[in-house]
Amino acid sequence: MTARATQSSDILIAGAGIAGLAAAIALARAGRTVTILEKRAASSEEGAGIQIGPNGSRILQTLGVADHLASKVAHPQSIRVMDGLTGHPLTQFPLGPDIEARHGAPYWSLHRADLHDALRTTAQSNPAITLRHAAELTGATQHGDTVTAHLADGETLTAPLLIGADGLWSTLRTRVLNGPPLAFTGKCALRTVLPARDVPPGISLTDTTIWLRPKAHVVHYPVRGGAELALVAIFDDADLGESWAHDADPARIATRAQAFPTALRDLLLTPSHWRQWSLYQPSGPVPWVQNRIALIGDAAHPPLPFLAQGGVMALEDATVLASLLHGVPDASIPTRLVEFERLRRPRTTRVMEASARNGRAYHLDGLMRRARNAVLTATPPHLFMRQYDWLYGWKIEDNT
Ligand SMILES: Cc1cc2nc3c(=O)[nH]c(=O)nc-3n(C[C@H](O)[C@H](O)[C@H](O)COP(=O)(O)OP(=O)(O)OC[C@H]3O[C@@H](n4cnc5c(N)ncnc54)[C@H](O)[C@@H]3O)c2cc1C
Repeated sequence: MTARATQSSDILIAGAGIAGLAAAIALARAGRTVTILEKRAASSEEGAGIQIGPNGSRILQTLGVADHLASKVAHPQSIRVMDGLTGHPLTQFPLGPDIEARHGAPYWSLHRADLHDALRTTAQSNPAITLRHAAELTGATQHGDTVTAHLADGETLTAPLLIGADGLWSTLRTRVLNGPPLAFTGKCALRTVLPARDVPPGISLTDTTIWLRPKAHVVHYPVRGGAELALVAIFDDADLGESWAHDADPARIATRAQAFPTALRDLLLTPSHWRQWSLYQPSGPVPWVQNRIALIGDAAHPPLPFLAQGGVMALEDATVLASLLHGVPDASIPTRLVEFERLRRPRTTRVMEASARNGRAYHLDGLMRRARNAVLTATPPHLFMRQYDWLYGWKIEDNT
């Protein structure tokens, strides 16, 4: 093997997930050239859904990504919260036209593969962006005004900036920025997608529905313009180990499903294939910036998935970073990265804390569960949704 060394004026991004692709698109629009290094040999997205609140859909519209999504998104009309023990409805929060009118952008639910395809198509149609697969970053070193990325095959690339968008299990965070190890959260997620025609009666095909029961909750919502339903089930569980995905044991799901109300039980028994993940979080504070290296997305701030905002935070990071780097000389990059952290850390910390709080509330048992249900049923839905204006109402022009 001959090691290759490339000197580049491009910005280097490790990872072609939501964060890396969105950052590349936003930076290219801000006049930069970008090379994305993705360790996977080809793009492959799991069969799973993702919800994108107005703060994220607005960004996808601005970046031109939404043009590739028109027939792919669904517009959930509400969030229906159900008691997963009794099967009774607890409350219903308005989405659809209501949230769009309030925040000036829609609430979408979609298949992850469709979102990735749209991001990738947008990135690949921009000549300022190069996307390289089978390019695994193994480390990085900094000298003077440059940073050198080291790839698994021995190649090195040198540039004025390296962005770590390499996700929860970030190599840059652990090996280069000496971030803390990840710790298991005690929860595992199961995910799948099934055709709408296979969905049993009693399950909404037009809303996001959340079923809450002790030590577990289930979320489902329409994707692919309503032709499919995405399901996520989260249980307090044992650690499955480091991986983005394992096949789940159908017998285990069948045993668990018996405890749920009839409609939900039938739904959980319908898919023949589920994937499962253990949920991890960093065991301490994560350093985000080191001179000409910065982390974004899950590499910097992986939230628990109880607010459906991790991917949206990655989109926000991308636009803030691009706006800070617009037109600045390479010499100013380190100070711009410090500013990036100053702007983004408080908000992403707030999102991580709100996600963790939701996770605790969703899985409550006994008296606490009853108290939660009483609050949910007594609070007027519009008032409840106003508590999230800080989240869904975020706009780049107010935040840079
Ligand atoms: C169960 C569950 C449900 C969720 N639901 C939602 C939701 O509804 N809405 C929402 O907004 N968010 C949701 N999220 C969170 C969301 O999925 C993540 O926040 C988002 O995918 C993070 O994107 P990312 O690009 O930072 O990381 P990733 O998607 O993990 O992408 C990282 C990329 O980097 C690549 N990579 C890794 N290491 C290297 C390396 N060394 N060199 C090169 N490339 C590398 C990987 O192959 C990958 O392509 C959910 C998460 C879970 C677990």
